[in-house]
Amino acid sequence: MTKQKGFTTTLLHADRLRKPEFGALHQPIHTAVTWGFDDVQGLVDVFQNKTKGYAYSRQGNPTTAALESKVTMMENGLATISFATGMAAIMATVFALVKKGSHIIASSYLFGNTRSVLQTFTEIGLEISFVDATSVENIKAAYQPNTCMVMVETIANPATQIADMENIGDFCQEKGLIYVVDNTMTSPYLFKPVTVKASLVINALTKYIGGHGNALGGSVTDTGLYNWDKYPGIAPVLRQQIKPELLGITQIRKRGLRDGGGTLAPEAAHTISVGAETLALRLERACGNAGALAEYLNAHPLVSKVYYPGLKDHPQHGLSKKLFRYHGGLMSFALKDGVDVFAFLNRLQVVIKSSNLGDTRTLAIPVAQTIFFELGAERRAEMGIPEGMIRLSVGIEDREDLMEDFEQAFNGAL
Ligand SMILES: *Cc1c(COP(=O)(O)O)cnc(C)c1O
Repeated sequence: MTKQKGFTTTLLHADRLRKPEFGALHQPIHTAVTWGFDDVQGLVDVFQNKTKGYAYSRQGNPTTAALESKVTMMENGLATISFATGMAAIMATVFALVKKGSHIIASSYLFGNTRSVLQTFTEIGLEISFVDATSVENIKAAYQPNTCMVMVETIANPATQIADMENIGDFCQEKGLIYVVDNTMTSPYLFKPVTVKASLVINALTKYIGGHGNALGGSVTDTGLYNWDKYPGIAPVLRQQIKPELLGITQIRKRGLRDGGGTLAPEAAHTISVGAETLALRLERACGNAGALAEYLNAHPLVSKVYYPGLKDHPQHGLSKKLFRYHGGLMSFALKDGVDVFAFLNRLQVVIKSSNLGDTRTLAIPVAQTIFFELGAERRAEMGIPEGMIRLSVGIEDREDLMEDFEQAFNGAL
């Protein structure tokens, strides 16, 4: 295949083109932990980064490598490292690159566990500013001489704010900051952060890319845009061995994956790889369902507010249209005061009460009582999270079944 094929065709043929044994169409699940060499020089060369190869599976394995190359292709990136979970990818990225005394600017709407891990890093010598990332002005105002990284998400969960990603990209480039974009909520099918000058792209493979709620995984992709040669946080020993453009991702592989140990299991890598083959199909369907549901909920007399970038009154609706192929599969809505949220959720039959997102199934969760419970009522009010908010991750069910399910759940409240 010479001309670059489309998103799904490329994924479907990726394993075959690596020429696995017997003409297999899938990369096999290599369960070996360690790799043997006939000549010891081969082992030494792998250790010294002189040849590509595998020595010990904590830091690399052909099955995880096949998935990594697919994520790289999907993101139009340079190189990818996979991890056991999305959180392991985030943890490893910060841990591997950021030095004591540095300052990170992060969106105040980050996924709760990401916010929590950054908060923990402040206890061991990092400075973090959490700012409203829907305007680059807030990033500029938080900038300090020791700022080294900016971290945002494409669409925030649960209230769907969209970061001012293009302008933040320009600012990061101007100041030489590592620009980390968590693309989990959009996935590379809806959006490629390289187009807004991201340096590193995080994906929780657990969500849309794996897509079936049956395997945990995470990844970080280097887009190739950041000039690692100038970054003072790179270990001198790597500079002698590694091409400049690969310094960042190699340091993440060594310090983050090899030393951190959050390795993706080959079985999970295979499950995620197979799931990814239908990413585009699933998202077309889920985003279509989400758009229809958002319109329906927005018009419903028992609903006080719907948070979905596809609605015209969403504060970043224009940005969503400009940046993303579709407006995503995640939305939240608030029931009017007096409607019993738990009773409403319990009446739903097709929609499952569950905390995951990016699944093939539609999942709903009451926000204030679960994922934002630890924050307390006061912080929730500050963050604009109503006590009656429900987050919905819309799946690929037949649309009429979803609509009917909501209709009967609302009717039960009348
Ligand atoms: C779920 C999620 C993560 C963490 O992924 P896990 O695989 O659950 O560890 C990170 N970022 C975002 C935006 C997420 O939704």
